[in-house]
Amino acid sequence: MAGSGNNCIYCRTPLPAKVPREHLIPQSFGVFKPDLTLRCVCGECNGHFGSKLEFQMLHDSLEGARRLEFGLKGRIGSLGARNIMPVIAEGDDWKGARTQMRTVRDGKESTYVLPQVGARRNDSDDFEWCLEKDLAKEWADKFPKGSQFRIVGGNGPEDNNRLVEKLKVVCPTFVYGGVMNPPFSEDGRVLLHLETTINRTQARCLCKIAFNYMAFTCGHTFATSREFDDMRQFIRYDAGDEAGRVFVKEKPIIAQEIVTGQRGTDDHVLTVEGRPADRTLQVSSSFGTVKRPSLKSKLMREPFLSFIS
Ligand SMILES: [Zn+2]
Repeated sequence: MAGSGNNCIYCRTPLPAKVPREHLIPQSFGVFKPDLTLRCVCGECNGHFGSKLEFQMLHDSLEGARRLEFGLKGRIGSLGARNIMPVIAEGDDWKGARTQMRTVRDGKESTYVLPQVGARRNDSDDFEWCLEKDLAKEWADKFPKGSQFRIVGGNGPEDNNRLVEKLKVVCPTFVYGGVMNPPFSEDGRVLLHLETTINRTQARCLCKIAFNYMAFTCGHTFATSREFDDMRQFIRYDAGDEAGRVFVKEKPIIAQEIVTGQRGTDDHVLTVEGRPADRTLQVSSSFGTVKRPSLKSKLMREPFLSFIS
């Protein structure tokens, strides 16, 4: 079958007659109206973006947390998470402990406290937390005799007992102190703080969305121009320097907001800026700026708390 005569805007290979629809904003981020799509991205690039860029954006970024807030199904803060970590923001005995937030299909959200051990040398220090999988002698050795330990999280007494036994192995001098009452608020919700960073994969994903928009508004011929080859390499093949491509702005980035001084856009604003001098495309993003990096979440179950000193 004859091709369309066009090339893919990302890998520049000739497009077949039939190509999948590339959504300007991935549908997994929510349903947007109008639902803008492109017909100039090949199936291979489309599939690569879905599995390599969007997947991480959904599960390990602030965008993932925003999805949960809007009731979309998902989870953030899993064991391997590096770029979005919801931690408990209150309660002297468990502040800073890592959690995992989940929503199910009906939008109900809940927070699970990951099994972990916290330690501090004295009352005036913050607890330093260590996930069960990372519990090792080197970590325990940082805390001399007289330090305080806390065990939180997991699914019940079995998880708690297992952690006690593991801690005994790496820290044989402790004395078991008993079980604490968790500082529940009346509604069973706890304040979480979202610790977040934007990494290279997320930067590529943001560039891809912006580049899609550019192709949509300026056309296929413009987008396949050689001048954008560096950007293409960065988005599609993870090549080249990340610096100077994506900027996360803490300040208003659209003219109206700058003029009026009133902020109406806290998230999801991408601007694309051409820079003819060095032939690059620059993307500004306010994806990463949320005025309230904390939120209240319902605890899935009572987190077990042991203390050891
Ligand atoms: Zn392609």
